[in-house]
Amino acid sequence: MTRRTASHSAGQSPWLADALIAWYATAARDLPWRRPGFPAWGTLVSEIMLQQTQVARVIPRLETWLRRWPTARDLASEPPSEAVRAWDRLGYPRRALNLHAAASVIADRHDNVVPRAVPDLLALPGIGDYTARAVAVFAYGDRHPVVDVNVRRVLARALLGAPEPGAASAKRDLPLMEAQLPDSPERAAIVSAAIMELGALVCVARRPACDACPISAHCAWRSAGYPAGDGPRAPKQSRFAGSDRQVRGLILAELRGAEIPVTDAEIRMVWPDAEQLGRALRSLLDDGLAEAVDGGYTLPNGSASSPGWSSSSSSSS
Ligand code: SF4
Repeated sequence: MTRRTASHSAGQSPWLADALIAWYATAARDLPWRRPGFPAWGTLVSEIMLQQTQVARVIPRLETWLRRWPTARDLASEPPSEAVRAWDRLGYPRRALNLHAAASVIADRHDNVVPRAVPDLLALPGIGDYTARAVAVFAYGDRHPVVDVNVRRVLARALLGAPEPGAASAKRDLPLMEAQLPDSPERAAIVSAAIMELGALVCVARRPACDACPISAHCAWRSAGYPAGDGPRAPKQSRFAGSDRQVRGLILAELRGAEIPVTDAEIRMVWPDAEQLGRALRSLLDDGLAEAVDGGYTLPNGSASSPGWSSSSSSSS
């Protein structure tokens, strides 16, 4: 069978919402951000932590974070260095800085209440379209399509008959998901959570568990006999070991553990390749994740002086 096109199936598929809601009622994981009364601030923090980081690693860090900073103002009242320190090893630590910056705006301009409207959420530092919609839907119960990589994969397979979703496209993905949402905002939010859960647990990238899938009877890709895709394959994740990301993480670990500035000499101890080390340090300084101060480097406290590091200076000593 030939692959269906979006134009064949971009309309509403009434079976999808009902099947997802019924499945989610019994299969959903008990996750902190799904519990009744979970605050909007917690939803925002969890959504940012969940970008690029697995659920199991996020949960303990999120719980610690919210105990320490139960509102945006609590976080904003401390320096950004504390956010980066508490981020620990969740990866992509610019998210900690963004969260701190967003917390400051929420505290100052929104009376310490996470905004509800998508445009207001988008105006927060570091908040993208996905996160803004996710907060509006999962924290406030509003009706918006929310599309992440798991949702795109389920939509591609179940409705479009394709094995992989291809590159993200808001123009294509949002109307397709919107068409699947019931009119009721409450049910629409459940459908959004359920389709994400299906993509995370059942319709996974490799070896989807079709026998356990609540929508298998209607799945276009399955019905077509799982044809191979003709689109571009998703890019492979780049290797972490030996990458600049690894070196950045090692430098940040030094800065996190230090009560006083970390010296050039101490930083040189973390990685043997001076050029790569200099590049990683400069990128941390450029990103605002490290500051050059008298005597060395610290996490960002807003007291930067001119950086003194260069790879050539390191290799000469
Ligand atoms: S039947 Fe298989 S491929 Fe289709 S949506 Fe379910 S898990 Fe995914």
